[in-house]
Amino acid sequence: MKIGYVQKTSFIDYPGKISAIVFTQSCNFRCPYCHNPELVDPERFCETLFTEDVYDYLEKRKGKLDGVVITGGEPTLQAKLIPFIQRVKSMGYLVKLDTNGSRPKVIEDVLKKGIVDYLAMDIKAPYEKYSRVAGLLVNITQIRKSIALIKESGLPSEFRTTLVRSLLEPDDVLRIGKMIEGASLYVLQKFVPSKHVDRSYVKKSSFTDDDLAHLLADLNPLIGRCVIR
Ligand code: SF4
Repeated sequence: MKIGYVQKTSFIDYPGKISAIVFTQSCNFRCPYCHNPELVDPERFCETLFTEDVYDYLEKRKGKLDGVVITGGEPTLQAKLIPFIQRVKSMGYLVKLDTNGSRPKVIEDVLKKGIVDYLAMDIKAPYEKYSRVAGLLVNITQIRKSIALIKESGLPSEFRTTLVRSLLEPDDVLRIGKMIEGASLYVLQKFVPSKHVDRSYVKKSSFTDDDLAHLLADLNPLIGRCVIR
């Protein structure tokens, strides 16, 4: 596993649980607003950790943490993801897997093996704008498959979209709502300028509170629950 870093404790990344977050390195998207360039852009890669050290840390935290969030980068690109999850599960942890949905085969595998407890997928844009917002050509068939797998999994799950005003219109978000209609949870993530894959995004902004209030009202009939984070 190429692990860039570990956040030792989080109270917010696994809903209702105390978790550690494992950030895997490398991604097959280049979302310009991504705030983890050291996990995405090979020219800015950070040094990686020894996977054994991560296991040691998790062993020591048994009984103090409920779960482990595996995020990135894009975790499903990691060749050793499944044995990694199996080892984490064998320690008694709940596992939440974050994904950009580009590799449904991996999602299918973890579901068949019953080794994840929560799935979270980023939805970048309506299908026709997907590649533009993700920064690379995206295979939409794979995205559709991942959405279907997650919706039908029966597991706790969420879809989420980062709202950058220069990339998405409010109507785009409603179109995303229709793509995931019937999902249990949709999270609208306000874009917050920090460090980004595209350094110019430090000057970009998110939707207004007014936009968000209207979106919540319009999305509510489509989704079990819709929240702003
Ligand atoms: S935000 Fe985009 S570029 Fe960053 S890790 Fe997620 S999918 Fe990859």
